[in-house]
Amino acid sequence: MLLRLRDVFFKLEAGELCEGWIYFRERTNPSLDTECFLVSGADLDSDGDIPSKARLAGYLVEGLDTEAIKDCLLCAKQLGQKQNASTELESFIYYWRFDAFLPYSGAPEPPPPEVAILNAERQFYESLGQENLANPCRNQSCHRGAIQYSVFCKVHHFENIRKKTCPFTD
Ligand SMILES: [Zn+2]
Repeated sequence: MLLRLRDVFFKLEAGELCEGWIYFRERTNPSLDTECFLVSGADLDSDGDIPSKARLAGYLVEGLDTEAIKDCLLCAKQLGQKQNASTELESFIYYWRFDAFLPYSGAPEPPPPEVAILNAERQFYESLGQENLANPCRNQSCHRGAIQYSVFCKVHHFENIRKKTCPFTD
C-alpha cells in the first residue's frame, strides 16, 4: 500500500493501520509528503529482507515498523508538541537515522560513537582533578604529581583504570 508519510502518522494515530513496515524509495530524509510503501502481515518476509511487494514497486530502503513509528509519535507528543506534524516528522527521522528518540525539538545529530567515547573519556579525565607535585606519580618514568585519591597522576590513573593509552596529557 502506497501512502504519504503524513497519512501513515494520521492513520496510525487513528488506529487505522495494521502492523507492518514502511519502505522508502530513497535514503534521504523524507518529508511529510514523501510516499512510502507499507507492507503488512503475510507480505512481510520472515527473514527480514525487503519484501518482494516493496522491492517490485521500487521501494528498497527500509523505513521503520509501525510500532516504532507509534513510539516516535508518542515521543513527539511528550515533547509538548501536541499534534505538531513537523515535530512528529523530526522525531521519526531522528529515530530512523540514529536509532534513538529525539531528546528535544531541534536537537542536533548525536555524535558518532567514537566521538561519544572520546567525550566520555575526556569527562572522566577532567573529573580526576588537580595533580599534586609534592606527591610524585608512582610511575617511575613520570614527572607529574599524583591526584588526590590515587598514587598516580591523571594520565597514569586513567591508563590504570581504563586499560588503554590516555589520549590526553594536559
Ligand atoms: Zn604519571
